[in-house]
Amino acid sequence: MHDPSSYTIAAQPYYLPVGNEVTLFEAAYTSHLPVLLKGPTGCGKTRFMEYMAWKLQRPMITVSCHDDLTTSDLVGRYLVKGGETVWVDGPLTRAVRSGGICYLDEIVEARKDTMVVIHPLADDRRIMPIEKLGQLLEAPDSFCLAISYNPGYQSVLKELKQSTRQRFVAIEFTYPNHELERQIIIHETGLDTATADKLLKLADMTRNLKGNGLEEGASTRLLVHAGKLMAKGIDPRPACQGAVALALTDDSDMIAAINELIGALF
Ligand code: ADP
Repeated sequence: MHDPSSYTIAAQPYYLPVGNEVTLFEAAYTSHLPVLLKGPTGCGKTRFMEYMAWKLQRPMITVSCHDDLTTSDLVGRYLVKGGETVWVDGPLTRAVRSGGICYLDEIVEARKDTMVVIHPLADDRRIMPIEKLGQLLEAPDSFCLAISYNPGYQSVLKELKQSTRQRFVAIEFTYPNHELERQIIIHETGLDTATADKLLKLADMTRNLKGNGLEEGASTRLLVHAGKLMAKGIDPRPACQGAVALALTDDSDMIAAINELIGALF
């Protein structure tokens, strides 16, 4: 039997609020409303969820969605174990049963039919039909469904349908302002302020290239990666080239342009 406490976050995760997202999430949670976190990759959505799970003292189950993710992957399936057929709950079912938080990361990546299973959980019915067991689970009040979505990938195929998005309270995430992002980099990497500020300049430059050769600018995550490499003694240039330039793109002209920016800064 699955032990929900194994997903409980014991120590307070480091999370710096960027706006009113903490109070908004708490209000949605106590109103039993599901939450949609919108924003680019690497801007703190997962860290925020970990922080909220800790703050609300709920176990959290995270599922990274991918294009092969089926309803059974979320709900559960019969498996043959030692000659016997046994039912094994999927992560969504486990979260519902344990009254925890289920965080479906990058929901649009999942197969379209997967949405069908979250719909009755994401409106005021708050139920989950498990067809194969002939069961209808009612989500306890403490259950919370949260999903994340990056509207930046402008592809019709990757858009969240109205019937799905209009069930959720949306919270927008973006890169923290300089003051906060500086604090985050320093906290996560131990770099000094002057070096953190250079990383912020590099971030700004790449973020301005979004839509002009880059699909996304450097996220807070990439700056933290670069900072961690530097803290381990890697020179700033190769650290930024590996953690930022090559991580952002495969386009050799663009990589050369970013490397030039890195060379000018460090
Ligand atoms: P996402 O889920 O949006 O892709 P993450 O939550 O994984 O992004 O964030 C990437 C990293 O950026 C985190 O591991 C953390 O180091 C840092 N980070 C971003 N935003 C914050 C924040 N507001 N407070 C603390 N750390 C943050």
